[in-house]
Amino acid sequence: MSSESRSRPAAGFPAQLVREDLRGFTGYSSARTSAPGVPARIWLNANESGAPSAADPGGTSRRYPDPQPPALVEAFADLWATTPDRMVVGRGSDEMIELLVRALCRPGGDGVVVSSPTFGMYAVSARLHGVPVTDVPQSDDGLTWRVDTQALARAAREAGARVVFVASPGNPTGTVVPLRELAALADELADQAVVVVDEAYGEFAEQRSAVALLEEHPTLVVLRTLSKAHGLAGARVGIALAHPDLALVLRRVQAPYPVPVPVARLALAALSEEALAATRERVNATLRRRDRLGRRLRELDGVRAVYASDANFLLVRHDDPDALLHTLASAGIVVRDMRHLPGLDDAVRITIGTDDEMTDLDSALDIPLGVTDR
Ligand SMILES: *Cc1c(COP(=O)(O)O)cnc(C)c1O
Repeated sequence: MSSESRSRPAAGFPAQLVREDLRGFTGYSSARTSAPGVPARIWLNANESGAPSAADPGGTSRRYPDPQPPALVEAFADLWATTPDRMVVGRGSDEMIELLVRALCRPGGDGVVVSSPTFGMYAVSARLHGVPVTDVPQSDDGLTWRVDTQALARAAREAGARVVFVASPGNPTGTVVPLRELAALADELADQAVVVVDEAYGEFAEQRSAVALLEEHPTLVVLRTLSKAHGLAGARVGIALAHPDLALVLRRVQAPYPVPVPVARLALAALSEEALAATRERVNATLRRRDRLGRRLRELDGVRAVYASDANFLLVRHDDPDALLHTLASAGIVVRDMRHLPGLDDAVRITIGTDDEMTDLDSALDIPLGVTDR
């Protein structure tokens, strides 16, 4: 077992984990990156419009943005008590997943490892890149799910994989993977693969963030997002936190201007003290509503399992998912049908909404299930 001991010397990122043909690659040289910090009065180097658009009279979006807006990067670094050089900001964690596969896996080769049921984008990014996916299914006891990190390590070795994706808390499982297992997995594979801990639901979990492990486990990467607890899914802001050497590689393989000006402003506003306090309150209220819904669902006829959740949703198994979905749909309520996933052919995932929405869900569920006409 690995440790989180304080005495270990700061380790470097093994350069051989980066795709060989990209090791010396410096990426696109944009107008912003090629003249950074030049004190100038007149900027005529990027073919932008000299005057603002009528749609943007203040001209705030007239110029190409900074590829990694410094104020935003610093605000994120403060939020997670780390340094700006570990940060990559972009269009949702979805883009970060894409960048990791791009930077670490040869097109059409190498491999990634996932643990189903899990977030679909890991396999999608791998597939679009021609990279084979190895699945090490999780096991469940009807209450929680277990990611077998030792089996993940063995599978990654066998497949020669370059990236292991673990969502913690998981989607749709809601279960966290213990930090010490994630640290041990990263150490075990340190000469071969990067271990990505996707914390899209981290704000809802009791376990502290794996960001705390980055310093001592250089091949660990943590993904965070403003899409879930922070309430900005439409803004598309995701962050990878990684060893500075890897963060640099990820920024170099990223599209030139990944953070649009209006998005950067919105994201920065979400990181103000007031906004963060409001987010914490929303999270607490969501947890209360989640636990209440969980208790209610467990008493409901036909419910086989309601999994423990460290996220803002519940995964529910039901005797007659068709009837359940139909009943909810007749009340205008849409939940996520999970039956397409292996091992979840009786399951739905219910996101925790507002108080009013949960009240409507409650009344819809009072309709006796299984007796609705279909
Ligand atoms: C929702 C979700 C994401 C997507 O995040 P974006 O930042 O919106 O791209 C990533 N990972 C998991 C596990 C998710 O459930």
